[in-house]
Amino acid sequence: MGKIYIIDVTNRDGVQTAKLGLSKLEKTLVNLYLNQMGVFQSEFGFPTTHHESHYLAANLELARMGVLQPLRLEGWMRAVTEDVEMCFQLVPDIRHLNLSISTSDQMIAGKFLGKKNQQDIIGMMVDALEAARAHGAETVGVNAEDGSRTSLKFLLEFGQAAREHGATRMRYCDTLGYDSPFTIYETAKALAENVGLPIEVHCHGDLGMAVANSIAGAKGIIDGGQDAYINTTVNGIGERAGNADLVAVLLAVTKSKGFESGQYQLGNEMDMSKSWQIGKFASYAFGVPIPMNQPGVGANAFAHASGIHADGVLKDPDNYELYGFEELGRGEPELVETGREICTGRYGGISGFRHVMNEIKGDEAVHFRDAEEAERVLELVRYANVLAQKPLVEDELLFIARYPDIARELLTMTPLDY
Ligand SMILES: [Zn+2]
Repeated sequence: MGKIYIIDVTNRDGVQTAKLGLSKLEKTLVNLYLNQMGVFQSEFGFPTTHHESHYLAANLELARMGVLQPLRLEGWMRAVTEDVEMCFQLVPDIRHLNLSISTSDQMIAGKFLGKKNQQDIIGMMVDALEAARAHGAETVGVNAEDGSRTSLKFLLEFGQAAREHGATRMRYCDTLGYDSPFTIYETAKALAENVGLPIEVHCHGDLGMAVANSIAGAKGIIDGGQDAYINTTVNGIGERAGNADLVAVLLAVTKSKGFESGQYQLGNEMDMSKSWQIGKFASYAFGVPIPMNQPGVGANAFAHASGIHADGVLKDPDNYELYGFEELGRGEPELVETGREICTGRYGGISGFRHVMNEIKGDEAVHFRDAEEAERVLELVRYANVLAQKPLVEDELLFIARYPDIARELLTMTPLDY
């Protein structure tokens, strides 16, 4: 039986969302949390975008150091040869790519304005794929953008050409959230049966079905005899109505009727107890509150008020809860300072900074060797605060103190000189 793996695209689809974004340090923290959860792969950014170069290189360095392991870091770009060439010029150490091109008649006609036909699309994809492999890419996923509005016949032709030219996976994109669980099941199964590659499903929530479509697609892929890769984002943040939410997908795969029995299983163990932490961090970093009724991590996900429910859950939580809050890392009290507060940041000095770092307790506590080291870390903290424009969280401060050289690279921003 095939297995289910998670490819999180928060650092690509999430950050390209209108009105939202993350600093490079925040993107790095997302990768660290994804790694701690056991997510298979992070689509960690845009290798052809100049301001991503330092961030991408720094995260590849973290992978080499063993800090971001075993998470696989993969970059997204258009399936055109120029993008692949630019990618390896700007980020020579990158080894995992996803190449994306539109496959629907709507987009081929509507974007290329009559200059391309289906065979041109396959030709562009194959050229880009071969360029990626020639540059030493270890894995290359090929994405059919707007796959749900593409004929199955052309999707199969596209997927088979990708396989013949050495693609590792094919991504079926429900770019506009047009599928339902019934249609995506059939399409994904047909792709798995006939393309001969593991298949990814990339689902959007325009009709409120991103998570349902993701697990229906995964079921189709496994029934079709391949491994299934589900694309997620933290808190479902993504273009328009968003993507399939990471925590909700994990809950659906492990707890829902028919999936919990073990026939459709995750391919690697995942630590769900990080769910609360990553959801809270992404909410803070994006500046987007978690809806109170969000699965698992919403404020009301384990709240009971009505007499019958409260009485029932007090007698036995299984009466009204499908899973326990502890499993998601919830339940620890959160301390909020209500008295004097010392903050550190872009205009901060050494004594305030030392105070803030001294407040971090336990194994995490930071002890600077000397005043010079503390001053050096503070300087990086100032820059990180300038880029984030909000107070850094404890994990960001700790990251900078632990990996000052990596932090410096993440904070380096030099616009091109024309
Ligand atoms: Zn998308």
